[in-house]
Amino acid sequence: MDNRNPDTLDARIAAQAAEARRLSGQIVVGGRMQPALATGSFEVENPATEEIIGEAPRCGEADVEAAVAAASEAFPKWSRTKARERGATLIAAANHLERHLEDIARLSSFETGNALATQSRGEARTMVDILRYFGGLAGEILGDTYPGDPGRMLYTRRDAMGVVGAIIPWNAPLMQTTSKIGPALAAGNTVVLKPAEQAPLAVVRIFELLQEVLPPGVANLVTGFGDEAGRLICEHPAVRKITFTGSSAVGVRIMHYAAEKIVPVTAELGGKNPIIIMEDSDIDRAVGGILQGLRLQRQGQSCSAGTRILLHEAVYDRVIEKVIDGVSGFNIGNPLDEAVQIGSIISRKQFERVLRYVDMARETPGARILCGGDRPAGLEKGYFYTTTLIEGVPETSPVACDEIFGPVATVSKWTDFDAVLKQANDTRYGLAATLFTENLPAAFRFIEEIEAGFVQVNQFAVAEANIEYGGTKLSGLGRELSLASMIQHFTWPKTVFMNTSAA
Ligand code: NAP
Repeated sequence: MDNRNPDTLDARIAAQAAEARRLSGQIVVGGRMQPALATGSFEVENPATEEIIGEAPRCGEADVEAAVAAASEAFPKWSRTKARERGATLIAAANHLERHLEDIARLSSFETGNALATQSRGEARTMVDILRYFGGLAGEILGDTYPGDPGRMLYTRRDAMGVVGAIIPWNAPLMQTTSKIGPALAAGNTVVLKPAEQAPLAVVRIFELLQEVLPPGVANLVTGFGDEAGRLICEHPAVRKITFTGSSAVGVRIMHYAAEKIVPVTAELGGKNPIIIMEDSDIDRAVGGILQGLRLQRQGQSCSAGTRILLHEAVYDRVIEKVIDGVSGFNIGNPLDEAVQIGSIISRKQFERVLRYVDMARETPGARILCGGDRPAGLEKGYFYTTTLIEGVPETSPVACDEIFGPVATVSKWTDFDAVLKQANDTRYGLAATLFTENLPAAFRFIEEIEAGFVQVNQFAVAEANIEYGGTKLSGLGRELSLASMIQHFTWPKTVFMNTSAA
């Protein structure tokens, strides 16, 4: 290590503070990072310290118009670039991001509160992997041919749609960015993306880097509020496809915007996901799955987090004891500290939401906080919260039904498999569901009957490139992260019917 520049926590914080200041006020339009036309801005906070670290433009009509115009201008050339050449450019862009992976990861930790060691660094690797994956698939966008009849030829081709509007949340902004732009660009579209107001700066940095590889106007970024910049992107007549990840409530609004102009929407939305543990399951494996499922590296702020833990009565006490023991072993603190495994909740608003639900549980007769339910000792500043398990809330309680999106889960006891399957499905959401068992027929029955898009048995893994991801019910529409989803959601089919006979 260079002793003149030791990589201490203070040095890391100072470096990221300087980077956040450099990126403040910037958007990326037409191939250049530049100040926005908008005069208004909003502050970006480091949730681990509650300090303001930068600001981002509050873009409105002028900036959205400029970004969509740049994307529209770039579209004809980009969509007609040979598919594998387009893919090679995206792979070069992925390689370029990879060279800056550590800096992007640190900046993301600085503004999201996600721990560098357990979340942001791995997420940055996934960000690169997803873009590279879609770059490699650009030549695989195939249509169909129909059986040949004499004198006629019938086939379909898949064409790029035009400008894609992409809106992402704050919980995993690095991988969300390439999950959106990867398939859109590989299929020949151009993009205007808006990051969430809580975590815009690392995405600005990603787009700044992308301009060093991609042709101007192919990937554009505006910052701003959802019901301003976000809405304007979705409503813009030149935006021919909307890809959205966020809450179910906003997903409904996005579908209204799209309905007004009949354009397709991919919507990856919320979840309240069951994890069922059967009496015959391998206890250590199940406990490991629950600890993974709580998604503590993101303070529980994951759409697929297993927040309804349904334990067979016969194993309830043993599993609870081990999970509480496991949870207490994580180190909570400043996300840039290499020894820290759990960082802070994203914002005061989200922190107060978590407090409200835990208070609601405290006031519920029969409910009991099994662990957590407070700030970690010694962390008085920043939105830090201990992992909280709650038992005894009725199934109809908002604590058991709503997506809290924090380090909070409910646990309950069951004895009858039919009843627990019904309970698992008794939710507005349908994103992820997990079962731990050694009973093969039960596993297949669960797979068949569970109403969720991402179903796992005897493991809790998270989304990655080449494993299709998405939900049903209020958890969304469409799929991501696979070749089939790229073709289905980022191209439109054209049927070609040719008379091949001589005149
Ligand atoms: P959110 O409030 O729905 O916001 C998501 C994005 O939509 C933000 O960029 C937001 O902008 C924007 N937005 C808000 N209102 C809008 C409008 N009227 N028109 C257009 N855009 C609008 O969600 P969040 O709090 O950021 O993220 C948490 C949610 O995302 C959770 O429900 C979680 O489950 C879900 N999520 C789902 C997946 C999945 O793959 N299924 C993955 C990750 C997260 P501003 O915030 O700047 O206003």
